[in-house]
Amino acid sequence: MTQAPPDADARRAIPPVICYPNDTLPVPDMALYASALAGAQVVSSVLAPPREACHFRVRAGQFFRITSVDGPQVGDLNLWHDGDLTERFYSGKTRALHGTHVSTAERLWSSFPHLRPMATIVEDTLGWYGIDGFGGSVHDVIGTRCDPYTGNLLAGTQYHHCCHSNLTRALSDATGLPLLEAEPHVHDVLNVFMCTGFTRDTGQYFMKASPVRPGDHLTLFAEIDLLGALSACPGGDCSAQHSSDSAACFPLQVEVLAPAAGALQGWNPPVANGYNRSHGR
Ligand SMILES: [Zn+2]
Repeated sequence: MTQAPPDADARRAIPPVICYPNDTLPVPDMALYASALAGAQVVSSVLAPPREACHFRVRAGQFFRITSVDGPQVGDLNLWHDGDLTERFYSGKTRALHGTHVSTAERLWSSFPHLRPMATIVEDTLGWYGIDGFGGSVHDVIGTRCDPYTGNLLAGTQYHHCCHSNLTRALSDATGLPLLEAEPHVHDVLNVFMCTGFTRDTGQYFMKASPVRPGDHLTLFAEIDLLGALSACPGGDCSAQHSSDSAACFPLQVEVLAPAAGALQGWNPPVANGYNRSHGR
């Protein structure tokens, strides 16, 4: 341990400053989205079986809804711009803009050089949870995804149904890419329904039993054409462990909903980011 300077307490007492004040972000028209959702019809439905992933496509202007069925289960979500896999969900920047966990009226942002909203959360039946006494909350953008490499590093295992592998297979199925070409497009996730935080004493990433129950759902509006993949994590509700077959696991349902014609009057898809990309030269 290094020796603290005489003014250590004073330095620690400096109040924090929000890195990215987000009050200048474009504000989504939540009333318009709500009225469009009220008249929307389910046009497709797919199930991510336990310890497997599914894929789905959502046109810009449609909604997709992830629902817990049968039992408490968390899901790892990847999103790409359908037709351009290089534009994908940017978990880290979404965290920087909105915080460690996301809910209604917050957005999932895409990677550079696009940095535009891919999807907007319009319904979250776990919105009541807030931040619990341990600092835990739901729908995080702090975890990466369970993966076989970390398992091998820590325990020497060869496990094939981590979310990383499930998402890799789902993307391969959706695009026809061989597994090893699909894998680099898999990225850090939105942990749907997962309850996570950081311990105050050691700063370690923790998980705890998800408060999700069958019927709970998270509904998002697609701002651009999306290809999505959702893995029903082998951790189940993530109350004990992941990266093995020991936890109770349940499926997750993904429905795509199309609003009625004319229901989105006034909405326009987000344009590409305005930075000129000259990088100072
Ligand atoms: Zn997982």
